Amino acid sequence: MTHEHRPILIAGAGPGGLCTALTLQRRGVPCRVLERASHEQVLSDVGGGYDIGVNSLKMLDSLGVGNAVREQGRKTAEVLSYTHSGALFDRMPFPEGMDVAGVMRSKLQHILLDALDPSTLRCSAEIVDATNHDAGVEVTLATGERLSTSVLIGADGVRSTVRRSVFQDDDPPHFCGLSCAWGRTPLGDMTDDLAALMPPEDRALNVMGPGRILLAGCLGDHWLWSAFWQSESFERSESGPKSQDNVAKQFEGWGPMTRGLIDQARPETIVEVGIWDRDPAPSWVHDRTILIGDAAHPMTPFLGQGANSAMIDAFVLGNLLADETPEAAFTRFEERRKRAVEKNVKSARSLAGWMTTTNRLSAFAFRSMMRLMPSAVLRHAMTSADQVNDVDDLVPLMPSAA
Ligand SMILES: Cc1cc2nc3c(=O)[nH]c(=O)nc-3n(C[C@H](O)[C@H](O)[C@H](O)COP(=O)(O)OP(=O)(O)OC[C@H]3O[C@@H](n4cnc5c(N)ncnc54)[C@H](O)[C@@H]3O)c2cc1C
Repeated sequence: MTHEHRPILIAGAGPGGLCTALTLQRRGVPCRVLERASHEQVLSDVGGGYDIGVNSLKMLDSLGVGNAVREQGRKTAEVLSYTHSGALFDRMPFPEGMDVAGVMRSKLQHILLDALDPSTLRCSAEIVDATNHDAGVEVTLATGERLSTSVLIGADGVRSTVRRSVFQDDDPPHFCGLSCAWGRTPLGDMTDDLAALMPPEDRALNVMGPGRILLAGCLGDHWLWSAFWQSESFERSESGPKSQDNVAKQFEGWGPMTRGLIDQARPETIVEVGIWDRDPAPSWVHDRTILIGDAAHPMTPFLGQGANSAMIDAFVLGNLLADETPEAAFTRFEERRKRAVEKNVKSARSLAGWMTTTNRLSAFAFRSMMRLMPSAVLRHAMTSADQVNDVDDLVPLMPSAA
């Protein structure tokens, strides 16, 4: 890096923030991550899961943690699609040899944290304000402490404080008309009736009905499910038994597999959130501050690209910052990522509409397309969103991290 030695500050210890820190660390650039949550919260086993894509795994390999992710991850053999009453209408074999791993968010966080120098992460450090000035950026924490840095990377998620304060962007993200809840149903807690209905553990499930969808995959000792339903507005996140009742109400009248997964989930694992994205911003850069991941480009989860995009942003930006001035790195980063990722944001919004439509004709058309799609087209559909994440040119830059 061709600028001074104050550590780069990274806001947020999600997959974007931690991968940025790991990339910079591997390239010998000093950095610190400031995370609002406590250390205990960061390490706790809460949250949903991600399908880590082909390019992300290549990138994680070059950071020395790819195999740790594969070891924790689920391999999917087939995706089974059911109607809401429980009739199987489609089986899609997962493209053979595709290197993708389904992993719990908490496991991924642990793997990234274990690889980082322990002094990199500072927890209970909520950023409440950030301001660019001539010599860099000044960050204010909730405690009133002020920190100064040459570069601030906003990886602080969909409600980014960095975005609001530096970019003076008070616009809320766009509500996609969907609420979502995820939860875990342990294999050991299932009734015999439910266990008999569940497919083998290397299958992933889509259960589709008017205006609603439930997706599920088996991760270790439990099925992790995410349920989505159309809603006009979203007030605030909920969790626990209240959310379980709410999801159960939303999926009333559905088949016994869906109802069993919801009713037999551990209430403390259930979290209810809204689904948000953003229209393209004029820029992700403001002087010495840059946004990545959900802070820059939140998207619906239906393309499975949110965390993958955040991690690839991190890897690309970390490598550019190691080689160039911040100004040059930011320009090249936007040229490489902005248009391509924002195209995925648009596709993810449209896919959300198709997958949760209440229009019977559209639902029929979508299911027919899924049934008739040849495997080559399926493979293309599954890889095209990930193509923008190609990092083959950057992987050789990493020093051996094994
Ligand atoms: C149901 C569901 C399923 C999903 N499935 C997938 C999937 O299969 N594949 C995929 O790629 N993506 C998936 N996603 C999307 C994924 O969760 C997000 O895109 C991803 O977590 C974004 O990572 P990030 O690092 O940018 O932000 P985040 O993960 O949101 O992390 C932001 C961090 O910043 C911290 N923070 C916030 N404000 C402050 C502050 N003021 N000061 C300091 N710290 C702060 C937060 O505490 C948090 O730790 C899914 C999302 C949902 C809702």
